[in-house]
Amino acid sequence: MVPDDIFKKIIAHSKEYGFIFPSSEIYDGLSAVYDYGQYGAELKNNIKEYWWNAMVRLNENIVGIDSAIFMHPEIWKASGHVGAFNDPLIDNKDSKKRYRADVLIEEYMQKIEGKIEKEIVKAKKRFGEDFNEEQFRNTNPRVLANQKKIDETNKRFIFALENDDLKEMKQIILDSEIACPFSGSKSWTDVRQFNLMFSTQIGSISEGANTIYLRPETAQGIFVNYLNVQKSGRMKVPFGIAQIGKAFRNEIVARQFIFRMREFEQMEMQFFIRPGEEMKWFEYWKGARMKWHKALGIEDNKFRYHDHDNLAHYANAATDIEFDFPIGFKELEGIHSRTDFDLVQHQEHSGKKLQYFDNETNKSYVPYVVETSIGLDRMFLAIISNAYTEEKLEDGTERVVLKIPPQLAPVKLAVLPLIKKDGLPEKAREIMNNLKLEFNCQYEEKDSIGRRYRRQDAIGTPFCVTIDHQSMEDNTVTLRYRDSMKQDRISVSEIGEIIRDKVSINTLLKNL
Ligand code: ATP
Repeated sequence: MVPDDIFKKIIAHSKEYGFIFPSSEIYDGLSAVYDYGQYGAELKNNIKEYWWNAMVRLNENIVGIDSAIFMHPEIWKASGHVGAFNDPLIDNKDSKKRYRADVLIEEYMQKIEGKIEKEIVKAKKRFGEDFNEEQFRNTNPRVLANQKKIDETNKRFIFALENDDLKEMKQIILDSEIACPFSGSKSWTDVRQFNLMFSTQIGSISEGANTIYLRPETAQGIFVNYLNVQKSGRMKVPFGIAQIGKAFRNEIVARQFIFRMREFEQMEMQFFIRPGEEMKWFEYWKGARMKWHKALGIEDNKFRYHDHDNLAHYANAATDIEFDFPIGFKELEGIHSRTDFDLVQHQEHSGKKLQYFDNETNKSYVPYVVETSIGLDRMFLAIISNAYTEEKLEDGTERVVLKIPPQLAPVKLAVLPLIKKDGLPEKAREIMNNLKLEFNCQYEEKDSIGRRYRRQDAIGTPFCVTIDHQSMEDNTVTLRYRDSMKQDRISVSEIGEIIRDKVSINTLLKNL
């Protein structure tokens, strides 16, 4: 199936089965804002729990906070967001569509890279075992010409970004003959800077209202509380502060479902370290975060690192963990070595010392920071798009099943009386009441058992138990497994024991 079709199906499925709804739908929606439905909210909570416990519970030197969304406006000047949190935007004069100029250029380079990959696949087929990729890349004239195009464009692009040279950015678009994907037109406006922060007023006008911003990242709430946490928690460097919360960005191009939203959630951890030790910790967190992703049992080839050549103003090393979404490999999480940039900026702007006294070295310093920053909604999209499966069954029918890792599945166990009489519903309720404190269970008695199984498959429930007449006699039930559809006859008392480890987030944490 074409990736685009899969993406559309995932969006439709998410809505039909109560995972994600467009915001304000009865008013025709609000662009790039989404609401999480009854199963979406559960899945999101489970992802949060997995992240929070991996950070805060497993690491004695990491604690979690919950800072306010509204902050003093000076914070955003100090962090560079007022001056530099801009995206370069460009409009196509014919289609009137708006784009991020940097994204147009990056996509152009990716397209050429795609051509190179195609040549390599073709050559691999032709040469078989003897194929030497490196040699092919270094000698094939078409590959060399395309690589040259990429290198030259990339060099100009980095220069334009580093020097905020908007004219050059437009020139790259013109020289590369980049066309509007919508209209095919190459008629472009100039490139302009656009600040991504939302602003609002605090206080009434009569009090002399102040402009404040909705935070575009949760990280600054951690930086401005770093000393509060360090002192009240008697934390010793290296230590980390984790936070999960909403962030807001007035994204220019936001049309990829929950991949890029204007209101979204981040899970960020700032790790405070001795200056000079940043590369060691950067490597450590790169590895630790990848391990967290892979522990979910998703195939390894769905993840890759993308090291940055073009570093943000605050970073001296940065990498993305990219995921193979239906829209291609894209950033899921960022790991950044932020140096002492933020704390030094806050020291200067606030006039308050943010130094740490290191007992071991007898020195005071402003700690360096390595951060890990993942979008909760992007993680959600990674999970759901990886889970979405259409299967042809042996009997010729089809099913759609969400193969969500059982530890994150919204509902763990469906309790299903085979029919609605003969005491089966009462027996089913009794079983459910015993299990619901520990597991998120769902009781369903409507429709045939086959249709109920399909509905549970569609929301990703890993286990169903069916109560039939035999259950009334010998206290056994049928346990059905979502992925294999295998059924086992087990005793009611065994249900908890069998599913406990499989659905518990602790099982994931043990593998980290
Ligand atoms: P991108 O390049 O995709 O705009 P970014 O590099 O600006 O992302 P960061 O500032 O590093 O992103 O934010 C950290 C994480 O927050 C990202 O890895 C991503 O998962 C998430 N994120 C950022 N912007 C959005 C958004 N508009 N909608 C959903 N998630 C987002």
